[in-house]
Amino acid sequence: MNQELTASGGRRLTYLRLSVTDRCNLRCRYCMPPEGVPKLDHGDVLTYEEILRLARVGASLGLKKLRLTGGEPLVRRGLAGFIRALNEEGLFQDLRLTTNGILLPEMAASLKAAGVVGLNISLDAVDPAIYAEMVGLPGPAGEKMAGRAWAGFRAALSLGFETKINCVPIRGVNDRQLTALARLALEYPVDVRFIEHMPVGRGRLWEESCFLSAGEILTRLERELGRLEPRPAADPSAPARLYAPANAPGAIGFISAVSAHFCSGCNRLRLTADGKLKPCLLTDREINLREPLRTGASDQELRELFRAAAGHKPVSHLEAKPGDSAPAERGMSRIGG
Ligand code: SAM
Ligand code: SF4
Repeated sequence: MNQELTASGGRRLTYLRLSVTDRCNLRCRYCMPPEGVPKLDHGDVLTYEEILRLARVGASLGLKKLRLTGGEPLVRRGLAGFIRALNEEGLFQDLRLTTNGILLPEMAASLKAAGVVGLNISLDAVDPAIYAEMVGLPGPAGEKMAGRAWAGFRAALSLGFETKINCVPIRGVNDRQLTALARLALEYPVDVRFIEHMPVGRGRLWEESCFLSAGEILTRLERELGRLEPRPAADPSAPARLYAPANAPGAIGFISAVSAHFCSGCNRLRLTADGKLKPCLLTDREINLREPLRTGASDQELRELFRAAAGHKPVSHLEAKPGDSAPAERGMSRIGG
């Protein structure tokens, strides 16, 4: 029997993004409302043992690359031990994590020892006051968070993680910081990626007037940094289009899920912290793995559910079928971005 996951258009699914928690220590304005979002009950969140079981099933179907995310993954207790257990089973060739970096100063070394190879760190501004505005904690509390996040970035570099910076540009808030962020790619071996603000969670936090497209950002950066040459990505399925100034150790990337779609190359599935498999970030279709898992489903039955999720992956989120209902109701912190 074919032990691979294939979606429409012949897309082979090899990448799992796994959210370990819906909790977060920030309230980024593009991701969560200032008051936060309702939290999952503890009992609804998959235990590490349950995640391990699903990871084994996913790996048996050809998922090779794993990214842990959240919410903020580093706030979940016991994370490094869980990652060590994952790695000891040798299930995935490539294990990475997306984080806001706040807890990296104390955790980066244990993550490295546990086998994480890459860190994507969300850093929306160099200036501490603007960072504080972006993460929904204006004032000294947010500025202290800026210090921690940037210390986390430095820790990641000094420990030799493959490091990327993620920034969601919002007009009128952090758009004057974009060149300063992009310049980090001239100094360090990091990709600085600008992610278009996506209307996730029914777009309640999305405003057209604040939206900056990848094209506009590129034009603005070229005005200050000179012409940026396109640079091929090491991983052709990666969503970022990369550009690099000559002789730069890093690259500048654009993830343009809104202005230009990359659905035809999408090779990923998402597993939420409460055990729902999502074929597409931008549609509501979810396949519940938690209930079957907790009521004695066999590995074969779980494999069938993974296949069903692959079968429901829309050709594009703009061409979602009835039942997929785009755009997604869950906000990003509850999906796992
Ligand atoms: N808390 C971690 C962090 O911030 O890196 C991991 C989870 S967060 C949901 C993952 C990524 O999603 C972050 O890089 C964040 O910038 C991005 N993100 C969140 N909401 C978004 C939105 N509405 N549009 C585009 N990117 C978004
Ligand atoms: Fe938290 Fe990440 Fe969402 Fe910011 S983007 S609120 S750090 S989950």
